[in-house]
Amino acid sequence: MAFGATRQMYDVDLTCSKCGNHISQLPFQPSGDRPVYCSDCNRAFRQTRPGMGGGAGAPRAPRQMFDVNMTCASCGTAITQLPFDPKGDKPVYCRDCMKSRRG
Ligand SMILES: [Zn+2]
Ligand SMILES: [Zn+2]
Repeated sequence: MAFGATRQMYDVDLTCSKCGNHISQLPFQPSGDRPVYCSDCNRAFRQTRPGMGGGAGAPRAPRQMFDVNMTCASCGTAITQLPFDPKGDKPVYCRDCMKSRRG
């Protein structure tokens, strides 16, 4: 007996709700009120799920922040991080002032 960590499989007689493949075993007990998919389709689902990496779609990456040592040109608040690389020839505003300037 070398099953070790093998998942328990349930014998079923179903068809995949997506591709129609016959499913003879499932790693869970089918409840009957959910569609059941074959292992191929399950894998495909997992790879296309949005926001879970994998490259498909555009996962919301955190905006890159630049470390700076500046003061807000409007209110004088110290600014230590900016969401863009400051060029130096433009006044830089803190988040609050930026927001109020945009309206
Ligand atoms: Zn399938
Ligand atoms: Zn400011």
